[in-house]
Amino acid sequence: MSHMLHLAGIESVVLERAGREHVRTRLRAGVLEQGVVEMLRELGLGERLDQLALKQSALDFRFDGASRRIDFEAEIGRNVWVYPQHEVVTDLMNARQKAGAAIFYEAPVQRIDGLEGERPVLHFEHQGESCRLECDYVAGCDGFRGVSRSAIPADKLKVFDRIYPFGWLGILAEAPAATNEIVWGCHDGGFAMQSIRSPSVTRLYLQCAPDENPDHWSDDRIWSELHKRLDVEGMPPVNEGRVTQKGVTAMRSFLAEPMQWGRLFLAGDAAHIVPPTGAKGLNSALADIKVLARALVAHYREGADAHLARYSDTCLRRMWLVQRFSAGLCTMTHQFPGQNPFVQRLQRTDLDYMTGTRAGRLQFSENFTGLPVEA
Ligand SMILES: Cc1cc2nc3c(=O)[nH]c(=O)nc-3n(C[C@H](O)[C@H](O)[C@H](O)COP(=O)(O)OP(=O)(O)OC[C@H]3O[C@@H](n4cnc5c(N)ncnc54)[C@H](O)[C@@H]3O)c2cc1C
Repeated sequence: MSHMLHLAGIESVVLERAGREHVRTRLRAGVLEQGVVEMLRELGLGERLDQLALKQSALDFRFDGASRRIDFEAEIGRNVWVYPQHEVVTDLMNARQKAGAAIFYEAPVQRIDGLEGERPVLHFEHQGESCRLECDYVAGCDGFRGVSRSAIPADKLKVFDRIYPFGWLGILAEAPAATNEIVWGCHDGGFAMQSIRSPSVTRLYLQCAPDENPDHWSDDRIWSELHKRLDVEGMPPVNEGRVTQKGVTAMRSFLAEPMQWGRLFLAGDAAHIVPPTGAKGLNSALADIKVLARALVAHYREGADAHLARYSDTCLRRMWLVQRFSAGLCTMTHQFPGQNPFVQRLQRTDLDYMTGTRAGRLQFSENFTGLPVEA
């Protein structure tokens, strides 16, 4: 956001609660939609991405002992790229630093006032001092647990929330991926996934209890479960390697409406959370800020406020489609505790339809590689 505004000659200040190194090295998302890759290139952030990112043109679904691929490049001529979130963040931090940006790390915002007036004020701490920052607009890009969403009066905010009865145990392993494609195992024992982090590092996930203690999963138990859920005849088995990181992620669908209040504009996880199945968290945050940056540029350059006024509607329209895709995939591919056998057969039928028909493959391909930012 700050980088996009800078390129348009608009000044901004970034207030970040965490320290610089923490922000730079935090491991999270890994898959970028085609539109996001194009946007990063347009913003002059494509150099490392073009060296390091791995293009993915298909996804391999494994269920009922077989592999069923959806080749989105063949279906619609679009792709996704594996490029970890911390690399995107590193590129942005480098670009902002080079431009001499005003970024305050270890500067938690405590309160935002005056959002309905012309000069909102952010109250934050920095180096033991209480500070205040007056501005024209506030971009609330402070994640699910930030303070900006709570600055919107509760009676003006409508919240939609769904918590799933499972989580993902995620590991990083020092091993090349068994195949060059993202693999999803939709097994009666639970969901599993193989994704690629680099030519020598694999990211793997296993559906587990939402409050699972990762220490209860020995390496042997992890590999045995991954083989059970991902290996099928005719395809190379999961490659084992040293496990270098292990953690559990809970699953949630969440959306707050509207995404704007007065001079505050929520973007990314501050407004919405998706289960990670569709790889949409980071991509959706970047879609929001693209809309917001364009709207602010129109305001400062042309005095046109129509885009700002439409910000929430524009983002929500797309975001509900993204929620539908992410929640739908999550429900289709995971085992729910105590699930009725009828619903289980419907899940398999959905998977069969999605992978086995042109209509199903097209719908998946369009959504997975990224819907247009503005309809
Ligand atoms: C473990 C994990 C794995 C994930 N895996 C995937 C994945 O595979 N695919 C995917 O698409 N998505 C994934 N996500 C989600 C994805 O990382 C997020 O959707 C994305 O980071 C959202 O970006 P954001 O900028 O909105 O929020 P964040 O990245 O959370 O950034 C918000 C920032 O605001 C700062 N902040 C918070 N409160 C304050 C405050 N009071 N004052 C100042 N600063 C504040 C935080 O320190 C943080 O740096 C994952 C998330 C996690 C936690």
